[in-house]
Amino acid sequence: MQIIHHGAVNGVTGSCHQLDINTHSSILIDCGLFQGAETAGKSAIEQLPIEFDISNIQALIITHCHIDHVGRIPYLLAAGFNKPIYATVATAALLPMVIEDALKIGVTQNRRMIKLYLKMLKQLITPIEYNQWFALDLGTAIKNNNTAATANRYNQAKAKFRAAGHILGSAYVEIALFNSFTNKSKNNHRVVFSGDLGATHTPLLASPKSPYRADTLVIESTYGDKNHQGRKQRCESLRKVIEKSVADNGVVLIPAFSIGRTQELLYELEQLIHRYRHKNQMWENIEVIIDSPMAAKFTEHYLQFKALWDNEAKQKLKQHRHPLDFEQLYTVGSHQEHLATIEYLCKRNKPAIVIAASGMCTGGRMQNYLARLLREPSTDIIFVGYQAQGTTGREIQTYGPRGGYCTIDGNKVAIKAAVHTISGYSAHADQHNLINFVKGMRIKPTLIRIVHGDNDAKNALAEEYKKLLPGAKIEIGV
Ligand SMILES: [Zn+2]
Ligand SMILES: [Zn+2]
Repeated sequence: MQIIHHGAVNGVTGSCHQLDINTHSSILIDCGLFQGAETAGKSAIEQLPIEFDISNIQALIITHCHIDHVGRIPYLLAAGFNKPIYATVATAALLPMVIEDALKIGVTQNRRMIKLYLKMLKQLITPIEYNQWFALDLGTAIKNNNTAATANRYNQAKAKFRAAGHILGSAYVEIALFNSFTNKSKNNHRVVFSGDLGATHTPLLASPKSPYRADTLVIESTYGDKNHQGRKQRCESLRKVIEKSVADNGVVLIPAFSIGRTQELLYELEQLIHRYRHKNQMWENIEVIIDSPMAAKFTEHYLQFKALWDNEAKQKLKQHRHPLDFEQLYTVGSHQEHLATIEYLCKRNKPAIVIAASGMCTGGRMQNYLARLLREPSTDIIFVGYQAQGTTGREIQTYGPRGGYCTIDGNKVAIKAAVHTISGYSAHADQHNLINFVKGMRIKPTLIRIVHGDNDAKNALAEEYKKLLPGAKIEIGV
């Protein structure tokens, strides 16, 4: 068995891990585009075609439908992939929409091509419930090869999705490898791919529970060197920043990814409105504008899959509250409406909160807001998510407080707006969570491969794991 990591070449591609089970059979776990390249130009796209051999790949397992985990699926299909794509039921429901968007932005505007890809995708998607083992077909070559050489190889595999608490439908994957000829437990191996793990206090979704056993663990490290603020503290920070921001009747811009972050924000804003509407009129009157048709569609999915919500969120429903669908919320649909909203916000003198994609300001409608409103001292921009190197978001975060500028669509835009970062606001596990994920295992890994993070985060997390498991091999992957 071995694990190869595809992608992260020049920081352009996202998660894509290949588990080689034996010489004939491999499984892919995720096939993503790097977030910063969400709407990247041609140069990035040219680097995206699948350049590795897919002839032995027997299945693709998807942990969740963020673009950095699924965005390269169209390229995989284009390369001729026609094996099952396993995903949780909620992810399977979201995936075609995400892929359609990825196709339109990065690959083709050709309606016929898009339809064709989506048809291929829908034929391959196999929805799987959480916590249920499902067999992975490793192909006929190894099954029929009952020779002595086979005795020391894995020839059977099954997998299971466990809730990751990151976004709707998100999962980490347990893969159990066996040898049906020797059938000895010492010949079994358990590999866990973390995907993206949720933070303990992510609203709406329950926190992930550790697996019983992982012999090999491939784990993300987005926040491997940081610890988040507590949820209460974070919600308080959001309240203070918003109250301060709207005092000058300016616009509050919150860049957010359509899936996950937007719904978390809505959940917390409803909480603030509910709690403070009688203390501060502003909360009663504030307009919360979601300017993203995608975000609106995903919010519908969150509402559809209420069964996956955590107890706190379900409790609110019982009290007839609408955490994702409250009175002060406006959804902007068409591009026309989007442009009109910007005009409206520029002219008026009343506060509003705008949530739009992309979360790292690398494209999407948020860029149009920034181009118009970053120059206004009354504007506030609140970062609630990780801003990767090389993104406009990171530029604003770095140069904004020094009175610098950023580049939007090739133009220099002076940053007069106030820039805030609320660090605790993440759907990613922090260092504590990542350590506890391993601590909670009964049978702990002998090999940990750290992926999906900046070098600092990977190194810091590696140090922690070395302390926790002195006998284990801790490796840093791409
Ligand atoms: Zn994610
Ligand atoms: Zn990710």
